Amino acid sequence: MNLTFKKKSFFFELSSKVANSNTTYKNKSGWIIKLNNIEKGVGFGEVNPLRKKDLDKCEIELNQIPKYINSKNITEQIKSFHPCIQSAINSALAEIERKINFKKNYHFNEIDQTAILLNPYNALEELKILKDNKLLDGKSLTIKLKVGIQDNYSEEKTLIEILNHLRSNIKLRIDANGSWEREIANRWVDILKDIENIDWLEQPLSKDDIEGLRELNKRMPIALDESLLKYPSLINEWDGWQIRRPSQETNPMDLLKELKDKKGFRSLSTSFETGIGRRWLFHLSSLQLLGLTPKVPGLALNKNPNSFLFLNDPQKIWDKL
Ligand SMILES: [Mg+2]
Repeated sequence: MNLTFKKKSFFFELSSKVANSNTTYKNKSGWIIKLNNIEKGVGFGEVNPLRKKDLDKCEIELNQIPKYINSKNITEQIKSFHPCIQSAINSALAEIERKINFKKNYHFNEIDQTAILLNPYNALEELKILKDNKLLDGKSLTIKLKVGIQDNYSEEKTLIEILNHLRSNIKLRIDANGSWEREIANRWVDILKDIENIDWLEQPLSKDDIEGLRELNKRMPIALDESLLKYPSLINEWDGWQIRRPSQETNPMDLLKELKDKKGFRSLSTSFETGIGRRWLFHLSSLQLLGLTPKVPGLALNKNPNSFLFLNDPQKIWDKL
């Protein structure tokens, strides 16, 4: 299939910053790509690497893609490119070939339809405010706490306070973003292992300490995130929870297939995509909820600024860029 390839760059500020143990996100940038075939129409993709330092590599590689391409050749050419470029091109190709059919609307805007990321410096207060919100009566909430950011003593203290405030309709996820050594990780597992309302403990150890992560996973549910990005083959080997990021994986069609095949223990997570990449997050998240292990995704929609970049219509985003 013959195609034309076009790209436009984007930049936006998050509505408020997001801190984890490695970095603080204040803004995001990348490229929207558009593939066009005269008969079959258009497909859009988004190149939006999590790490800022990958932007230069992505730009160099995107500049190597000519304006007139062939679907077979481009599929070959991008195999050595950054995973985010592969994701964008494979997404756009899948859209043109109708291998993915996005719906007009998805329903993730309600507060109980996505995990709520607490401000790590004000987590307990935020939880109390959520609990006092009458609109949430009877709804199930999922809250997420990022740790490994402050000293462990105060983080453990916050944890205990949060656990005292949990109710049967509030689920908790904890994400250390790979910051702990085994000793601290085991301390947290000791505290958490018998608590019912914990979805999982996410990436407690370095992405490279797979053996340590396996040991912890015997004691309580451990979710891999950074490890999966560095070692994608773990997707087929890790039988615990997997945090999956369609915009960071080489081909989101693989995850689509896994979810259609009803593979469990996969949960969707945002990398702060625009409305273009968000279509995949919404679509895959809605499939995830139909599977054997439904869990609300982590979409952080409240971090999106009020901008045309977050419209639902990809053509409108493209036209305004
Ligand atoms: Mg994570």
